[in-house]
Amino acid sequence: MLIYEYKLDGTKQQYAAIDEAIRIVQFIRNKCLRLWMDTRGISKNDLQCYCAVLAKDFPFASRLNSQARQASASRAWFAVARFYDNCKNHKPGKKGYPKFQHDNRSVEYKQTGWKLEANGKHITFTDGCDIGRLRLVGNPGQKIEAFPLERLKRVRIVRRADGYYCQFGVQATREIVHQPSSRQVGIDLGLKSFLTDSEGHTVANPRLWRKAEKRLKRLHRRLSRTQKQSQNRKKARKHVANGYLKVQRQREDFARKTANALVTSSDLIAYEDLKIRNMVRNRHLAKSIADAGWGNFLRWVKYYGGLHAIPVIAIEPDFTSQDCSTCSTRVKKSLSLRTHICPTCGLVLDRDENAARNILAKALEGTLGHRETHEQVS
Ligand SMILES: [Zn+2]
Repeated sequence: MLIYEYKLDGTKQQYAAIDEAIRIVQFIRNKCLRLWMDTRGISKNDLQCYCAVLAKDFPFASRLNSQARQASASRAWFAVARFYDNCKNHKPGKKGYPKFQHDNRSVEYKQTGWKLEANGKHITFTDGCDIGRLRLVGNPGQKIEAFPLERLKRVRIVRRADGYYCQFGVQATREIVHQPSSRQVGIDLGLKSFLTDSEGHTVANPRLWRKAEKRLKRLHRRLSRTQKQSQNRKKARKHVANGYLKVQRQREDFARKTANALVTSSDLIAYEDLKIRNMVRNRHLAKSIADAGWGNFLRWVKYYGGLHAIPVIAIEPDFTSQDCSTCSTRVKKSLSLRTHICPTCGLVLDRDENAARNILAKALEGTLGHRETHEQVS
């Protein structure tokens, strides 16, 4: 599934109608969850049937397109299914018991309830929510109208701090012919450099969060100085939300571009399966680690790896930074020691590059139960 995104341009009344649709989605999702909590042995199908009951009992809910109502019930089931999976797989820690939602921001239509105009400039929502006709604002290069209608599997409206967006889910496979580079790389993700590969190339850490922090702090201070329920407070809150949105976009952009560049220039990628959750618990490093956004980056690497059909291999973290990449001698070192110096074979190498070499070697060895991981990112 490919996602094409446009910003929506409409009137205040139309935005209010979108908000109402978003509220109905949340209402149905939460009602379904309630039913699941109260009734033993409920199935996905039961929830789908319950949608019809809700539409009958609550006239306002019936205004939302029926497939969109079904999609809301599916969301509830998705939360339930994830909880079941976590329990079945004995996931350590919390199992994620489904929660009621209070901050839903989107509504998902399937193949009915909307109409896209032939030139791809406007979309009209035709169900009882009365959202009406909205202008699509986007990159002129992305032509959603070029796809046959039956390929448009879903249309989702998303509310963000700076407005409303429309995402089209298109059933298509991006065809990318990978140009072989005969490079196999291991990558080490770190704080000093964001990424170091087994050939010694590095990508600097952008530290976007830290940079933005000062600005966000100022915006927060301004917010806290305003009177409750005043117009100024409303405005200040909007500024803060926009500030967060901006950093989030910059981080996403960095992760995506770095991942794409890496995948395009490699035939095999090996990375260390970091337990990022556990590492973030280390308070001294937490801020930098959360800032580094490794998890997000790895998701993109796996996604692009899938598109390019190259192996992306996760290896268990196991002394990769301690062992010598030439002779396997274990050389204990603290986090602050940046250079690997081997007393046995005399290898002197940047700590991260040494780790990256070990990661690649482990992946190529293939005896440690490695697995290929291709993931779909939406
Ligand atoms: Zn050595």
